[in-house]
Amino acid sequence: MSEDMKELRRQLFTAAKNGYDRIGEKDLAAMEPYCHSYKQFLNRGKTERECALYSIELAEAHGFVPYQRGMKLQPGDKVYRLNRGKSLMLAVIGSESMANGANIVASHIDSPRLDLKPTPLYEDGEMAYFKTHYYGGIRKYQWVTIPLEVRGVVALKGGETVRVVLGEGDESKFVITDLLPHLGAEQGKKPLNEAIPGENLNVLLGSRPLGEEDDKDRFKLQILNRLHEKYGIVEDDLISAELEVVPHAKATDIGLDASLIGAYGHDDRVCAFAALQSILDIAVPRKTAVCMLADKEEIGSMGVTGMQSAAFDTFMEDLCESQGVALRVCYENAFCLSSDVTAAFDPNFADVFDKRNAARINYGMGLCKYTGARGKSGSSDAGAETVAYVRRVLDEADVIWQMSELGKVDAGGGGTVAQFMANRNIATLDAGVPVLSMHAPFETVSKLDCYMTYKGCKAVYEA
Ligand code: MN
Ligand code: MN
Repeated sequence: MSEDMKELRRQLFTAAKNGYDRIGEKDLAAMEPYCHSYKQFLNRGKTERECALYSIELAEAHGFVPYQRGMKLQPGDKVYRLNRGKSLMLAVIGSESMANGANIVASHIDSPRLDLKPTPLYEDGEMAYFKTHYYGGIRKYQWVTIPLEVRGVVALKGGETVRVVLGEGDESKFVITDLLPHLGAEQGKKPLNEAIPGENLNVLLGSRPLGEEDDKDRFKLQILNRLHEKYGIVEDDLISAELEVVPHAKATDIGLDASLIGAYGHDDRVCAFAALQSILDIAVPRKTAVCMLADKEEIGSMGVTGMQSAAFDTFMEDLCESQGVALRVCYENAFCLSSDVTAAFDPNFADVFDKRNAARINYGMGLCKYTGARGKSGSSDAGAETVAYVRRVLDEADVIWQMSELGKVDAGGGGTVAQFMANRNIATLDAGVPVLSMHAPFETVSKLDCYMTYKGCKAVYEA
C-alpha cells in the first residue's frame, strides 16, 4: 500500500481501540483506588436509602452542607438536599450566573429487587415466609437459591422510623427455594420467564416453632418474636414499611486479571458513584454543577422521589432564586448527562446485539444518542449538536468513550431518566458504563469503563 493511501486510511477511518491500548499510566494507576472506593460504595448501599445516606456521608466529608431555603450562596459553595430519604441532589455553585445554565449529571440509585408485600408474613408447610412483589425488570429465575438479605425501614405510627438490616455479615440469610431437577421436568419445559411465577418468589424465613404443638401460627410467631426482639415492631407495623430483599453477595473483583467487578446493583450505582465522586472532586466550576441521584428509575421514574418529581425543579429553582435567575432560563442553557448503564456486548449472546453498534467491555464510557424500544419509542434521542458537544468535552478531557446502542433494533430496548430531563428543556445525552448480565442479582462491569465514566462525569461538570 502506498504511503498516500495509508495516510488517507488513517485520516478517514474511525480508530476504535480497546481502552487498554489507549489508557495512560496515570489513569491506569488511578483506576484501582477509584474502583476500591466504588466497591465500598456498593457494599454500604444496597438500597436507595442506604445509598443516599452513604452519599451524604461522603459529601459532608468533602464540605457539602444541607441546603436551607434562602441560604446566600457564593461560587464554590457546596450544598445538598435529600428528598424523603431516597433521592439526593448535590450542587457546587459555579463562578458564572445560573442564567448561563448548569452542568447536570443524573443517575439513579434504585436497583431491581424484591419488595415485601404490605401483608408479607405467613406460614405454610410448617415454615415461615415473606410474600414479595418484585421491583423493576428482573428475570425471576435468577432470584431463587441464592443467599438474600432484607433491608429497609419500618415507619412507626408515632413518627419514628426503624432501620432494618437482616442477613448482613455473618448473620443468618434468607433464600427462595426452587424445584429439584428430579421433579422439574414439567417446569423445565416452560419458557424462562414463566418457569418461576412472581407469586412464587416467597422468601423462606424459618422452620422452628414457638409454642406448643397445637398452637396456631407458631412458625409465624417465632419470626414475629425475633423481629420484635430486634426492632420492637409488631405485625401491623409491616404495613408501613419499605423492606427490600436484595442479594447477599459483596462486590468483588472478577477474573484472574481482576479487571472486572461483580456485584449487585451496578445498575445504576456504578454511574451514580461516578456522578457523585466526580462532583466531590471538582474545584469551583464555571457553571453550577449539579448531581442528581434519583429513585424509581427502574419502575418508570414516577412518584415523589422519581426523576419526574418536581423535587428536582424545586431544588434548582431555589438555587436559581438565590441569584435572581428564572429557572426556565437556567434550564434552556443547561446540559444534562443522563448517566445510566448500557448493555455490554456479550459473545455468549451475540445474536441480540448489532456488533457494529454495541458497547464493548473496556472501550470506555458508552454514549447512547437514544435508548427506547420498537423504533426508539420512549427515548429522548439527543440532538446531533448535543452529541458533538459531548464528543468535544470528553476528548478534551482525555476520556476513553464509545458510541453505542442497547441491542438489535427489534430485540428489545430500555429507558433512562434522559427523557424526563429533556422534557424540562434541558439538552440531554445518555452515557454510562456497559454492563454484563444487567438486572441480574450479580452484574459485571469493567474497571476501566467505571473509571472512564468517572472521568467523563468530571469533564461534564468542569465544562
Ligand atoms: Mn439504569
Ligand atoms: Mn435498569
